[in-house]
Amino acid sequence: MESLLGRRGLPLRFVLGAFLIFGLICWVVIGVRSSRASRREIPLDLSKAAGLVVLDKDLAAAENSAVYSDETPVGKSLFEISAAAADASRATNSGLSHNVRLDADKPAGSVTDGLLNDGRHLVTVRAGDTLVKIFKRHCLKESDALQISKLSGAASLRRLQVGKSLWLDVRDGRLQGLEYDGNRLKHLVVKSSASGWSCNDYVVRVDSSDHFLSFELGRNLADSCVRNGVPRRLVGEISQALSQRVNLRNLKGGEQLSVAYRESRVGNELVKSPELVGLDYIAGGKKLRLIAFVGESGRRAYFTPDGQGTQSQFNRYPLSKFRVSSKFTKSRRHPIYGTLRPHLGVDLSASYGTPVHATSDGTIDFAGFHGGYGRLVVVKNGRYSTRYAHLSRFAKGMNRGVRVKRGEVIGYVGSSGVSTSTHLHYEFRINGVPHDPVSVKLPGESLLASRQRHQFITVAQRVGSYLDREQAKRNKTLAVVDSNSNANADRS
Ligand SMILES: [Zn+2]
Repeated sequence: MESLLGRRGLPLRFVLGAFLIFGLICWVVIGVRSSRASRREIPLDLSKAAGLVVLDKDLAAAENSAVYSDETPVGKSLFEISAAAADASRATNSGLSHNVRLDADKPAGSVTDGLLNDGRHLVTVRAGDTLVKIFKRHCLKESDALQISKLSGAASLRRLQVGKSLWLDVRDGRLQGLEYDGNRLKHLVVKSSASGWSCNDYVVRVDSSDHFLSFELGRNLADSCVRNGVPRRLVGEISQALSQRVNLRNLKGGEQLSVAYRESRVGNELVKSPELVGLDYIAGGKKLRLIAFVGESGRRAYFTPDGQGTQSQFNRYPLSKFRVSSKFTKSRRHPIYGTLRPHLGVDLSASYGTPVHATSDGTIDFAGFHGGYGRLVVVKNGRYSTRYAHLSRFAKGMNRGVRVKRGEVIGYVGSSGVSTSTHLHYEFRINGVPHDPVSVKLPGESLLASRQRHQFITVAQRVGSYLDREQAKRNKTLAVVDSNSNANADRS
């Protein structure tokens, strides 16, 4: 070094002095920087963490709490508690539960990283974060991160999600435990113990509440629902439930619809789509009441209070988006032949290549070219058969005798055969006799299995009395409004 520096003619003393000063400057700059960095990591802004609520009480209550099910009383706020309730109460007893918290009143995105008033560090997962990276950032042992990641119950820590919260419990520079909110309904708690790291899942408290809406329909069900405050995500469900019994394309307006639905929230946040509980549809003085029920299959279905299923074995239409371009008629002037000919199906106009779905389970009875039908598929289901014509092509494997499932794609919309425009010609036949697919009464599912009947009747009575009670309340309110406006009218 001396010779190198010496060649430039710098005295050694000067060089050493310069090094000393440079080192001092570096130390100051790095020191300031790192203290700034740690200040950014851990802002002592406790107000921002105030939304975090410790859940000890809830966990203590877990053992005695009702488990959410369709048995839950309608119209009452309730607790949803996990299958892990037993674990949770065990944890309470061993003192682990202090770590479980629920950010109940936390407005989305308001909590920033930082030190909480209980000494824990709140970390928000950033893009590209792994547990190891986060540990490094917080000067924690990498080996701890690796061991924790390997815990069998800690899969969520191996795939951290951006924006989720992680709480690090650090005491004297050592990690004591951590919690992760990877799933809104589940909360992961990792603890250090004499035998190493262990982890547990806790299910967060969910508050469910029932809601009632009643209103007059216009000619469009969806519009009317949305206008009257029905959550958008429920509209499809209502339409599905009703469409098996009511021809929704023929609404005249003035029909009355009352719906009961359930919302589940953690804090202010909806944690799943609202669920339809039941509904009343009144038209022409007749009431159709439908009750939601989750049967043994786990599938949600709708039944009349006497247990008659509304879910048909058939879908009404084989296309999800279309316009009826020509109706079923026993006599119409044929657009090509110009003669009076019956139109024994319905024409559904849709763009070329739109997938065509089988409207029921069944067996392919015919798949090929058939005169004016063009490319035709016939699906047979007992005494019912459905025909799909003018296809541009068939789906793979559509051969005679092949079994298809309801909803399965069997072909694609086209204009083959005698056809003036791209559309699907769809027929619905019972014992070979064509019926109007738009209005035919679709065969309903049979009654509930006898072992489910008892359970269903309990649910139906509860939902039914909820609908009646809420309807009565509403009528009373309307009557008051009515008499008030009458009184006003008398005065004027
Ligand atoms: Zn047609």
